[in-house]
Amino acid sequence: MADNIASQLNRMKKTAVLKRVADLDERFTLLGWQGIVAEVPENWNLAAVSGDRASGYFRADSPDRPRFEVKWWKPSQAVHLQKVLERYIKEMRKKSRRHRKNVEAQIGIRLVSRRRMKKPEMLGFAWRGEECGCGLIWRCGECDRVVMAQVIGTPEENLTNLADRIIGSVQDHSPDGWDLWCAYGFLFRVPNDFALDSFHLVTGKLEFKFIRGDEFISVCRWAMADVLLKGGNLTSWLNTSYLSRLKNMGVEISTARVKSHAGALLVGKPRSLRAKMQERIGAALRRRSVARIVGHVWHCEKSNKIFAAECRVRLGNDDLLPAVTDSINCHEE
Ligand SMILES: [Zn+2]
Ligand SMILES: [Zn+2]
Repeated sequence: MADNIASQLNRMKKTAVLKRVADLDERFTLLGWQGIVAEVPENWNLAAVSGDRASGYFRADSPDRPRFEVKWWKPSQAVHLQKVLERYIKEMRKKSRRHRKNVEAQIGIRLVSRRRMKKPEMLGFAWRGEECGCGLIWRCGECDRVVMAQVIGTPEENLTNLADRIIGSVQDHSPDGWDLWCAYGFLFRVPNDFALDSFHLVTGKLEFKFIRGDEFISVCRWAMADVLLKGGNLTSWLNTSYLSRLKNMGVEISTARVKSHAGALLVGKPRSLRAKMQERIGAALRRRSVARIVGHVWHCEKSNKIFAAECRVRLGNDDLLPAVTDSINCHEE
């Protein structure tokens, strides 16, 4: 019997070690949401999001369980990180009591060096109950957010190395004012004064829209381009399927090479004379230049996807569209 338990324990230890090594050998990918960027194993995908830039949450799941979560908020006053963690653990204990499961927790563990994280205020933590977690909470003086990030696993797992690898990669603001967004491998950058307005993440199509006043940026990725194009070219797809997106707009399409792919440049204009007049009068009243819609659409054969970037921009912001298009990684080089 004792032998049995010993061999079982041994086996468990071995699988735990194997698992740990496997975790670290995995290919990593980027995840970017509301100015927070992290490197996570390639098969962890965005599974839940809420809130906005000031205060929000995202979670990434492996195919079988929640694995990584990040919560952030703008503190209204001084924050006592120790107290925030104590409250968090207390809540967790309250919930797990219903399942008659103890939660062991440690606050102040060493996770990610201060030199690497570059945050004067930070505190590591770990807990073990029905699941286990290993994380870090910190305050960033530059974007003025408190960020709490943790890696989650089964109670048998030793998460320290993986959590160190992932949380050590987290950046909570971009150095140049352009946020990196990345979900399901769709990566692009948007100036951080554009706020996320809407997004649709469905099989075959990922779409994001950001707004700043009456300007907007929208980016979209369609999978299985060969099926969508049905052997035809991009221009015919644009005319039959794409233009319905730009309701009430007259759109001029001209073919263009975009990111070394077959693509098109779109220029939208209000369709009716009345709409044109309204736009001009509105702009004059607000002492602003007239806004126009411009877009790039292209077919990336290498990834078998169609990409689009559209902006409604004021005159003088003409470099916005090329910069957004440039930031989209349509295929691996
Ligand atoms: Zn920051
Ligand atoms: Zn490409």
